[in-house]
Amino acid sequence: MLTPQDVLALCRERGVRAVDLRFMDFPGLWQHFTIPVEKLEEEIFEDGLGFDGSSIRGWQAINESDMLLVPQAETAFIDPFTEITTLCMICNIQDPITREDYTRDPRNVARKAVNYLKSTGIADTCYIGPEAEFFVFDDIRFDQAPQHSYFFIDSNEAQWNRGTDMKRAGDGPNLGYKLRHKEGYFPVPPADQLMNLRNEMMMTMIECGLDVEAQHHEVATAGQSEIDLKYNDLVQMADDMCLFKYIIKNVAWKHNKSVTFMPKPLYGDNGSGMHTHISLWKGGQPLFAGGGYAGLSDEAIYAIGGILTHAPAILAFTNPTTNSYKRLVPGYEAPVNLAYSQRNRSAACRIPMYSPSPKAKRIEFRCPDPSSNPYLAFSALMMAVIDGIQNKIHPGEPLDKDIYDLEPEELAKVPSTPGSLGEALAALSRDHEFLLRGDVFTQDVINTWITYKQKNEVEALALRPHPYEFCLY
Ligand code: GLN
Ligand code: MG
Ligand code: MG
Ligand code: MG
Repeated sequence: MLTPQDVLALCRERGVRAVDLRFMDFPGLWQHFTIPVEKLEEEIFEDGLGFDGSSIRGWQAINESDMLLVPQAETAFIDPFTEITTLCMICNIQDPITREDYTRDPRNVARKAVNYLKSTGIADTCYIGPEAEFFVFDDIRFDQAPQHSYFFIDSNEAQWNRGTDMKRAGDGPNLGYKLRHKEGYFPVPPADQLMNLRNEMMMTMIECGLDVEAQHHEVATAGQSEIDLKYNDLVQMADDMCLFKYIIKNVAWKHNKSVTFMPKPLYGDNGSGMHTHISLWKGGQPLFAGGGYAGLSDEAIYAIGGILTHAPAILAFTNPTTNSYKRLVPGYEAPVNLAYSQRNRSAACRIPMYSPSPKAKRIEFRCPDPSSNPYLAFSALMMAVIDGIQNKIHPGEPLDKDIYDLEPEELAKVPSTPGSLGEALAALSRDHEFLLRGDVFTQDVINTWITYKQKNEVEALALRPHPYEFCLY
């Protein structure tokens, strides 16, 4: 673990000239400002640096906007994209007067969540392993794009979305090396046109200290990709996801591509999920392995009960955009039913059976998508797990059938994921007591989240004519 002294030494050794301070805003985008390296003194790690929090989405009112950024030495890395050597650090946010951690800082929510886990005595560690998917599109300047390039009317017109592979397949006469629809997972090059790009992303991640497990093309033919990081502690994994997205977007940008983590950018093809694997540990021992269904312990079964019971509310954080609910529909490997199973991937909770080792025993929650703020998404998920264990919430019987093929009577008994962001926010406003424990999500955070999302996203979208309405009417 790097200390402030290590960071200062690293700056000297590597000839660092600028120090970039980063933090996560409320909805989930990294923000930053930069200081010359000469201004990085040891005291800053204690005293922080002031900034105006009033223009940050979802944060302070203008009359109380002075805030402090306190850099965290252990998060330091050298930015691989800047022209002058720049060291970056992730910061915590504090109130300059009280010196208290700011309750709407997502990283603070995640730190409190882990402290709360420890305080319950249930476990001391929560490991999180996300599988974030994303699309790589050719970056065409808007004035060069076809006028109606954002109309997604049917799968033929989806060509106008300018997906990397789709454009090549649809535009000219040469149909060679075309990935077949829904078969992007995962033929070798030249059908896979993005291998070099993903390798550059992977190598850049490794240089920056991320532990990459694999990279591959995903099912959707229009350049859908996935890069998997090794699981990590909850807060670190949320930090890692910020760096992960930053690297993916900037490598793409370098090659005139643009990446979106939007869950459903294309009609008629798979969306992008961020399946999230979770396990609890105590004293170095895994708590989710046992003699029950799929090799699970009682705690793990109750954890599933907690997740499925609170899923509609959790989705307000794990699937927090209006677009998220366009992914959660039948037929695209995204979960639509709140059930669990070791076998099938149509259940919201899957128990992976790749390894017999107790250490590998975990729950895969398949609902989350990469438009989420990882600090808030992982924390909400873990709080539901804790509630399930504390209250011994039994999830009922597993559903070891393909849920997409169930008879209607049988299907009617399985609860569904919320149909829209509005529904998820309504569920959160009814069901959030489990998130308030240990002061993890405060009532203010819950209220601000609901109001922010309802006003700026749900209502803002509802007020606008949709391109597809022109097709219909
Ligand atoms: N893209 C799918 C989803 O939306 C997952 C595909 C997969 O990894 N099997 O969740
Ligand atoms: Mg995967
Ligand atoms: Mg995948
Ligand atoms: Mg998965």
